[in-house]
Amino acid sequence: MTSELECLTYSVQHQDEGVCLLVRMGPHHILLDCGLANISSLMGGLSKLVTSDGKTPLPADIVLVSHAHPDHSRGLLALHQAFPLLPIYASEVTSKLLPLNWLDHSLREITPFCQALPLRSPIEIQENLVVELFPAGHLPGAVVTLLTYNTPQRAYRLLYTGDFFLSNSRLVEGLRLEELRGLNLDVLLIEGSYGTSRHPHRRHQENHLAEKIHRAIANSYSVILPTPALGLGQELLMLLRSHHYFTGRDLDIWVDGAVAMGCDAYLGLLPHLPHSVQNFARHQPLFWDERVRPRVRRLSAENLATLGNAPCIIITDLTEDLSKYYQPSRGNWLVLLPEKININLHNQEFLSSTMTESYLLAQHSDGPGTTQLIHNLRPQHVVFVHGSPTYLTDLTSLEELQNRYHVHSPSANIIVELPIGETFLQPAAPESSYEGELTELGTTVTITLPEIITDDPRWLQFADTGLVEARWQGEDLVLRGLSQKELLTQNSDRHTWSLLNCCGSCRYQRGQRCWNPKSPLYNFKITLEGYCPAFERLAHSPDE
Ligand SMILES: [Zn+2]
Ligand SMILES: [Zn+2]
Repeated sequence: MTSELECLTYSVQHQDEGVCLLVRMGPHHILLDCGLANISSLMGGLSKLVTSDGKTPLPADIVLVSHAHPDHSRGLLALHQAFPLLPIYASEVTSKLLPLNWLDHSLREITPFCQALPLRSPIEIQENLVVELFPAGHLPGAVVTLLTYNTPQRAYRLLYTGDFFLSNSRLVEGLRLEELRGLNLDVLLIEGSYGTSRHPHRRHQENHLAEKIHRAIANSYSVILPTPALGLGQELLMLLRSHHYFTGRDLDIWVDGAVAMGCDAYLGLLPHLPHSVQNFARHQPLFWDERVRPRVRRLSAENLATLGNAPCIIITDLTEDLSKYYQPSRGNWLVLLPEKININLHNQEFLSSTMTESYLLAQHSDGPGTTQLIHNLRPQHVVFVHGSPTYLTDLTSLEELQNRYHVHSPSANIIVELPIGETFLQPAAPESSYEGELTELGTTVTITLPEIITDDPRWLQFADTGLVEARWQGEDLVLRGLSQKELLTQNSDRHTWSLLNCCGSCRYQRGQRCWNPKSPLYNFKITLEGYCPAFERLAHSPDE
């Protein structure tokens, strides 16, 4: 075992404190994101990690930024001001969106301090340290970061997802799994915002939300949609402009605050947006459009006085004082809040006196997407950050992960040691399943399976005699190949276990796994001969 890899968790976004991780790969110290509101903890940083190299007073050798959301980048300006020599890198799009984090500074005060790196191009950023960025979905410019540290013996590979999303949304394409396969990854630092929950299909989420807004407007409600400055707000605009409930409708959509500035920033990034969006923008303005209905308009002070005279939609950022839009004398108001978003105190008070509902328009991967990414990468270590501690615990306790990887979910200010074997050991791929077809003809049932199943070395043994045994297990029919040896002893002891009280004849055993929550074996792979006190006999055992 070598200890070339370590991670110091300055901040892991359990709530809204942001993400900031320092990783050490051999002599290199790389800061991943800086979402801290206050960077004081970074000041004495390097001395916390054991290293022979004590020559640099900087908190890291380089900083790599995953994307422009504040929980990943709001500390960068202070960091740059404290350490002007510290190189900070991000994708080109992120480098252009970053200034939106510091709207209280004039843009002239913020000298561009972030250097843009190209996508999908390995770059030796330090001696023997190579960085490569891949689009992560989630937000224009968001990347997953691959770091490779080369030594004469071997290469060490670490991937940091930042925030990622596998599905396409309207303004950003999803992460492409096939770009990341076969990396022989040692360590994966991954977000777990949504825990193990499963989301409905994206189109379904969109329709559900559009329906809510449509119904409110039909009932003469004006709708306020508070969102983060970047990402969700622009997605909502695209959805409202292209959904059949709203296209052509005599309706004003007002955009205010940082969301409006986010729209302006997107307009400057058009060549980086998906082709479908570029096409759309060829025929009509992407955001500001007073001509095509529904109208999308920037809210100004004079409009504020007439808001709500007719039902309208207001999209603004979460930090804005929402009560300024709300005119109780002019009609009814509904506030629609995105799920899993922190509301500032001032607005909490306001919201308690207003009608509010929530909706889901996910910007992060759900549980199945997260495990899918992990199984595609199959690293030795999986380190979960970014998500409520309960959600992260849901993920780390998944047996399908625990069985295969070293799973970590560190709290803040912890050094996570990441021991790696001398040679690369790829954890086993999860069991594939095969889809087949059933045909019933007369008295014969034929089961057809895809040919790829024969690629598995176990097929030879399974098909050894060309005979199978089929047996019901509850609702499932289990197929088992019969071996030569079994055929010879056909009539001796093959069936005896099914007469005994054992896991093989227990109603809670399926696929050689225990499904009885009351059993100590629950969720574990078991042998059919095993037994536990929670045993219950299969109701219709074929041998009874
Ligand atoms: Zn984000
Ligand atoms: Zn985030």
